[in-house]
Amino acid sequence: MVKGRNNRKFSSRRKKLAEEVKNKGIQDDRVLQAIETVPRHIFVDSALENRAYEDSALPIGCGQTISQPYTVAAQTEHLNVQKGDKVLEIGTGSGYQTAILCFLGADVYSVERHEPLYLKARDILKELGYRPQLKCGDGTVGWSAYAPYNKIVVTAGAPVVPEDLISQLTVGGILIVPVGGQDVQTMTKITRTGEDSFEQEQLKQFKFVPLIGEKGWD
Ligand code: SAM
Repeated sequence: MVKGRNNRKFSSRRKKLAEEVKNKGIQDDRVLQAIETVPRHIFVDSALENRAYEDSALPIGCGQTISQPYTVAAQTEHLNVQKGDKVLEIGTGSGYQTAILCFLGADVYSVERHEPLYLKARDILKELGYRPQLKCGDGTVGWSAYAPYNKIVVTAGAPVVPEDLISQLTVGGILIVPVGGQDVQTMTKITRTGEDSFEQEQLKQFKFVPLIGEKGWD
């Protein structure tokens, strides 16, 4: 049973959204189940809730967006989240992807640089019964207090792979980060194969808001 306002009203639209992202190539049934279950309309302003189940990014204030559901699903699928994984998310934004990660059974740590977004996401996630650890700050340096993490996902576009995030990965861990210019980025998957060895894979191109901070954009 999912909590939150107007949840029953939107259940058939959520199901359609899950079918839409499946048709666009998402194959992991658990990720599709998460899209079908987590109430995205709760994470947007009530004036936008009728658009919450379109497969598009929407404004959330502070010049930021809630990511397109397909993008959230693709990042989550590449991360191969398993129950009990310790996941660091950089860019909490609305908290929607945080909720998807929690739904999949991960222990989630998430950092957001804008305080109003951090506060709003904190309240919504609590209302829905999810229990991530949240912090307001610069995620380009990771969150060393809880490191290392099995999985790290960055939800904003980085100019280069932030080295602090790589150092906070366990051996066997996966980092998913969009890397490129401010107009378009290549989703990049880095797997830590040993203490000093890594594999890097370039995936599809996406367009994210910039990752701003000490190890990101100015
Ligand atoms: N998955 C989120 C969602 O669906 O709501 C994505 C939100 S948005 C695309 C990316 C977020 O990254 C924005 O809220 C932005 O403020 C945040 N961000 C950018 N640079 C950051 C940094 N250095 N540390 C933490 N958050 C950052």
